[in-house]
This record gives sequence, C-alpha cells and structure tokens, in this order.
Amino acid sequence: MAGTAGTAAAAAAAAAAGTGAGSPCGACKFLRRRCVPECVFAPYFSSEQGAARFAAIHKVFGASNASKLLSHLPVADRGEAVVTITFEAQARLRDPVYGCVAQIFALQQQVISSPHLLVVSINLV
Ligand SMILES: [Zn+2]
Repeated sequence: MAGTAGTAAAAAAAAAAGTGAGSPCGACKFLRRRCVPECVFAPYFSSEQGAARFAAIHKVFGASNASKLLSHLPVADRGEAVVTITFEAQARLRDPVYGCVAQIFALQQQVISSPHLLVVSINLV
C-alpha cells in the first residue's frame, strides 16, 4: 500500500525532473555548481522546482550525505528514496524535535481514539 503510493510519487517526481540542455538540475542549481551528465541528483530534481525541494534535504542531511546515500542504492530504488528523504527533511524542518515521528504519533492517537476508522480503512483495502 505505502509502496504503491511511494512508487506513484517517485514516478511523478521523476516525470517532473529532467534538465534542459545545459541547464543544471535543481540540486546543482541550489549548490551553484556545474551539473555533470552522471549527476546522481539530476533525474529527481528538476531545474525549475527541484531546487526548493533540495534545499530542505541539504539543510537537514547535507548534500554530500544525500549524494552518498543515493549512490549506494540501486537506480530502481533511488526515485522512491528521494521522495522519502524529501518527506523526512521537510518534516524535520517543520518540527525540529520530532520530525516525521510527530505525524506518526498523531496517527497513532487517531487510531487509539477512533478504532472504528481503522476498521473502515481495513474494509476498503
Ligand atoms: Zn546536477
């Protein structure tokens, strides 16, 4: 279930990416560096919208760590990893103490306070 949603989001991210001839990807644009053909970020960070998403990743994890993380993953998994890293970075910026754990706690509280909603969602699957 989560994998399907992640795959769709990754496909959307990949579709939104793609750099024009000579224009740097969003990550390289943000880092103000030359984008090379083998740039690990280029397929996932478009020149137009990728810079803003990459800014959150760079602030929380650092560009070097993100680059290393993606480089160590199979190419087929990188799109999904970019989606989750972006989600985690944005959550951490919103809530520096709990990050995405705040959202997990909120969902847990919903399950505890409204168990019938869980039954409804199980029936929908
Ligand atoms: Zn690049």
